[in-house]
Amino acid sequence: MEDVVLVINAGSSSLKFCVYNAVADGWRLSTRGQIEGIGTAPRFSAKDDVGVRLADERLDKDEIHDAAAALGALAAWLRSQYHAAHVIGVGHRVVHGGAHFAGATLVTPDVVEQLRALVPLAPLHQPHNLAAIGAVSERLPHVPQVACFDTAFHRGQPEVATVIPLPREIRGGGVQRYGFHGLSYEYIASVLPQVAPDIADGRVVVAHLGSGASLCAMKQRRSVDSTLGFTALDGLCMGTRPGALDPGVVLYLFQTLGLSAAEVEAILYRKSGLIGISGISNDMRELVANAAPAARLAVDYFVYRAIKEIGALAAVLGGIDGLVFTAGIGENSAEIRRRICEGSAWLGLELDAAANDARKTRISASRSRVSAWVIPTNEELIIARHTGAVLGLTQAQV
Ligand code: ADP
Repeated sequence: MEDVVLVINAGSSSLKFCVYNAVADGWRLSTRGQIEGIGTAPRFSAKDDVGVRLADERLDKDEIHDAAAALGALAAWLRSQYHAAHVIGVGHRVVHGGAHFAGATLVTPDVVEQLRALVPLAPLHQPHNLAAIGAVSERLPHVPQVACFDTAFHRGQPEVATVIPLPREIRGGGVQRYGFHGLSYEYIASVLPQVAPDIADGRVVVAHLGSGASLCAMKQRRSVDSTLGFTALDGLCMGTRPGALDPGVVLYLFQTLGLSAAEVEAILYRKSGLIGISGISNDMRELVANAAPAARLAVDYFVYRAIKEIGALAAVLGGIDGLVFTAGIGENSAEIRRRICEGSAWLGLELDAAANDARKTRISASRSRVSAWVIPTNEELIIARHTGAVLGLTQAQV
C-alpha cells in the first residue's frame, strides 16, 4: 500500500492541496489541486505531477459553502483516486505560530487552542487554517496532523530586528515582529546551493511577490530581517493590504472617521494596496495591462515600495550578493522584475533583459556584481517534508 501525505493550504475562499508519495529519498508530488470559489462558484481542479489534468469541474454552490464541505468533496475525490493509499499524515500551512512555535508541530487540542489565540494577528488566514484542521479531525480522526508555520523560518532573527518599540507591558503580550511567507523562504533557502551556488552562502534578498508580498534578508540562508512584522500588513504594497503605513492613519480612521474596529480591519486587510490605489483590481496582471492613471499609480507604488525596501534590507545586510524573485508576480511578471531591478541598479545589479523576458533562472548580466534570479517557490514541498519529519519523530518516540 502506498504511503501518502496530504498537504493543505486553506484560504478564505480556496482550499489548495497536494498529495505526496513517500519515496526513498524524500517526497514525490503525485497530485496538485484546489477548490476555489468556496461559497460563490466552487470549482474543483487537479493535475498530476507533470501537469496532466485529472479533474476540472464545477461543484454545487449550496453544497460547498464552507471549508468543511470543501474538505468533504476533496476527501471523496481522494478516496476515488487513492483507494489503495494510506494517508500517513496531513500537513497544514498555518500562517501564524506566534512566539511559541519555532518549528512545525503535531496538532493536538492544546495546540489548536494556542493557535486560535493568534486569530486576531492574522484574521485573513488563521481562521481558515484552523477550520481546515478541524474539518480533517472530524473526517480523519486517527490521522495525525502537522501545523507548519509561515513565521517559523524567521524565528532566529536578532532581537533588534524583531522588537517593536512600544512600552514593555504591551510587548510582553507577544507584540513583536514575526515575519511571514517563511515556508516559501525556507524552500528558496533550501535550493540556493544547487540553483545559485555563488550567492548561497552570501547576503541575499528574496522577494516573495504574490497577492501577499514581502522581502526576506538572508545571510547564509538564514533570515535576519523581513518586511512583514507583527501581522501580515507591514512592508510592501500587496493585493488588498497597504504595506507600511503611518499608524497615525489608523488613529484617524478611528477618531476622525469614527469607523468601527471591523471596518478598519476590512480596510486594512481587504480594501487597500493595489485594489485600494487603483479601485480597479488587486490582480497585477489586470493592472499592468490597464492604461488608466489609477492602475498606473498602483503598479508604480508597488514597484517603488519594493525598490525602497530592498534598499533598506541591503543596508541591514551591509550590501547584497543576490536578489531572488518568487511567487505569482515574481515568477511571472518580467515587467515588474525589470522595473525593480532597474531601480536597484545602484546596488550593482545589471539586468540581462533577454534572460528576464525569457524567464531564465539567472536574469542578471554576467558582469553584474549583484546577481538576480527567478526561482519558483514550493511551499507545499516544505510542508510535506516537515510533516514527514514531525511524524517520523513522533512515531520513533512512541
Ligand atoms: P497567493 O498564493 O498569495 O494567492 P500568488 O503567489 O499565486 O499569490 O500570486 C498571485 C498574484 O500573482 C496575483 O496578483 C496575480 O495577478 C499575479 N500574477 C500571476 N501571473 C502574473 C503575470 N503573468 N503577470 C503579472 N502578475 C501575475
